[in-house]
Amino acid sequence: MAVKVDLDLCTGCGLCAQICPEVFELGDDGYAHVVSGADTSQDCVEESIDQCPVGAISR
Ligand code: SF4
Repeated sequence: MAVKVDLDLCTGCGLCAQICPEVFELGDDGYAHVVSGADTSQDCVEESIDQCPVGAISR
């Protein structure tokens, strides 16, 4: 299932990349992006969705 980061909401805090580094990374633009080809079924994706302070991550 696809995971999206809403770049209009993301503040670039980096929390998702700490919680789930195989799926989220901070790009050169300073915002979070989904790693190409990542396994987005991992449990840490749900945790990142729950923990993102601005609710920028969704399925
Ligand atoms: S936790 Fe949310 S606000 Fe922080 S970098 Fe990830 S998507 Fe952006």
